[in-house]
Amino acid sequence: MSSTYHEEEDTVKEVSAGIITVKKVSGDRRYLLLQHENGEHWSFPKGHLEEGEKAREAAIRELFEETGLAVGEFVDGFRREINYNYSKEGKKVAKSVIYFLAFVSRALKVKLSPEHLEFIWLPYREACKRLTYGNDRRLLDLAEEELKEGCYSYEG
Ligand code: ATP
Repeated sequence: MSSTYHEEEDTVKEVSAGIITVKKVSGDRRYLLLQHENGEHWSFPKGHLEEGEKAREAAIRELFEETGLAVGEFVDGFRREINYNYSKEGKKVAKSVIYFLAFVSRALKVKLSPEHLEFIWLPYREACKRLTYGNDRRLLDLAEEELKEGCYSYEG
């Protein structure tokens, strides 16, 4: 897989892309969180880049594969990267995840993939509490700041 290559003998690098996914309900924002089957952590939709894929294409594909949702409208210019390390089969994995921010239509229904246990749409403060990792909470802060201060009027 192009997104995974050997950096050192005992370290591999992984690159994924995802979307902080928002819908509007009666004028209020709701963020989509997924609970991962492996580890049971709560995070945003995301997944590995495939050969030749750009981050945004991978993010759109992963959102669809994990939830059945299609992007309604991206928030222009929002692109943030987080980095973390974890261990897999005795190797250190140095991972980067590139996140975009996008609205989906409230009319669409989530069809969860088998790699997730649950999904939930939450307002900002509750989503902050539900997210497992601090770097994801920081991303949510940045998304909320962007949407609160912008004049986006997506009403899909
Ligand atoms: P992907 O969804 O990109 O295909 P994956 O399902 O293979 O990835 P991750 O969700 O990255 O894997 O989880 C791999 C490990 O990293 C797990 O142990 C998980 O708990 C941990 N992890 C997941 N997200 C974060 C994060 N934001 N910060 C730190 N550790 C994380």
